[in-house]
Amino acid sequence: MSDAARGVSLPGPARTALRRSLLAWFDRNARDLPWRRTRDPYHILLSELLLQQTRVEAARPYYDAFLAAFPNVHALAAAPLPDVLKLWAGLGYYRRARHLHAAARRIVGDHDGRVPDRSADLLKLPGVGRYTAAAVASIAFGEPVAALDGNIKRVLARLFAVDTPIDDRGCERELWRLADALLARRRPGDFNQALMEIGATLCTPKRPRCPDCPLRRWCRAAREGSAGQLPRRRPKAVRPHIEQVAAAVVRRGRLLLVRRPESGLLAGMWELPGGPLLGDESPAAGLVRVGRERFGAELHPGPVLGQVEHVFTHRTTRITVLVAEQAGRMRPRDHTARGWYGPRQRSTLPIATLDRKVLALLAGEGADS
Ligand code: SF4
Repeated sequence: MSDAARGVSLPGPARTALRRSLLAWFDRNARDLPWRRTRDPYHILLSELLLQQTRVEAARPYYDAFLAAFPNVHALAAAPLPDVLKLWAGLGYYRRARHLHAAARRIVGDHDGRVPDRSADLLKLPGVGRYTAAAVASIAFGEPVAALDGNIKRVLARLFAVDTPIDDRGCERELWRLADALLARRRPGDFNQALMEIGATLCTPKRPRCPDCPLRRWCRAAREGSAGQLPRRRPKAVRPHIEQVAAAVVRRGRLLLVRRPESGLLAGMWELPGGPLLGDESPAAGLVRVGRERFGAELHPGPVLGQVEHVFTHRTTRITVLVAEQAGRMRPRDHTARGWYGPRQRSTLPIATLDRKVLALLAGEGADS
């Protein structure tokens, strides 16, 4: 374990100088992002939930679209969940959309429509973890709490040359302690954002730009030439791969879609009927089985339309899409709804990126027109 991970931080005067240098750099170099032009806690909470697992450029149009559709927390709380999921479509990690919606309802129901101003209370909202609570409390309300996201972890691991894996629990606890010890208590929101900004723009994973960095004077990794090797991580587990099959059943130009259960992966999103294949089962045999087991339906497989691949955080998947016919009634076991939709109607449904790829495949083949 490194010195830093054993509890060494910087002496007081060095900490003061580092904060000054960091904040001066931030004042000159902060990117002009829409959520930085406001102190409205609802806007900041929205931006933080959008930015979990998502790059700034990808999140920005969603931020604008959400504020246009739901300009305040009351509007979001009053919206039906499918409208929120629909607006979130394409961004991935859909549980965040459900959490955002549930948090808005909690804020309206329990807090009179005011976003809680303390991190301890923010932490009780759905989808709000220690980082998000600290970010919102420090940025919107000036509470002196340190935030620690992936960018800040990398910066601190290099600054203090922490050589234990940063995904190790003990190391993470230590990084929280280091972040807290460094925090500029008079400008906590700017300080947290400045560290994030350093991580996003200078102290990047592959090529840290140490000569331009305001932390360089205090940075052990820069001094020791080890920035490229830090932070360390535990070896990654191999992602499991899942082969799936899906049915493209079209009647009179309309496609059969089913809605996923209200919990679990991609909850509440619409998709083609289908499911995972077993062992070396062929897609055609799998479709017949899946049709009976999951949908109480007789699906008669036709030709292969194509394949779509997708990478989730914890798994990869490939879906083989077959043209199919459905005989008799359909009684989905876990899916909560089914329906026939033309291209225009489909555009109003919440559909995840994976199934958008499937629909693009169908459109490319002219299979649903
Ligand atoms: S000096 Fe280099 S390694 Fe250290 S924090 Fe700055 S960019 Fe990262």
